[in-house]
Amino acid sequence: MTSGEAGAADCVFCRIVRGEIPARRAYEDELVLAFHDIRPAAPVHVLIIPKAHVASLADCGAGHDAMLGRMLGLAPRLARELGATGGFRTIVNTGRDGRQEVYHLHMHVIGGRDTGPMIART
Ligand code: AMP
Repeated sequence: MTSGEAGAADCVFCRIVRGEIPARRAYEDELVLAFHDIRPAAPVHVLIIPKAHVASLADCGAGHDAMLGRMLGLAPRLARELGATGGFRTIVNTGRDGRQEVYHLHMHVIGGRDTGPMIART
């Protein structure tokens, strides 16, 4: 495990998958779950996660290709359905430098307004 990584038992997103913590679900299939972010940064802000615990994108390998493809393919469909008609931003914060807070892989899908510059250029 990497620093800050929770095991599947007490991982907050695993608990959402198991229904132990409430979440506003937006989509679910056998591989992935999407739910609304508890602190939305824009009118549309959902998180797409794998149902199986994977700590971060850095922990993915070839065996995760189907799940990763499902996550990416779902993003435009969900954004459209939730009303982000002008486009959207996908973000996968990874590890310390990526400022990842929850160590269960997740893709932010953010839209419904201009999301601003990609990242501060120093
Ligand atoms: P990150 O910095 O990419 O790890 O982002 C983690 C995201 O998870 C943040 O945007 C949080 O607001 C969100 N989050 C944390 N706990 C919950 C929860 N119980 N339900 C919904 N979203 C959550």
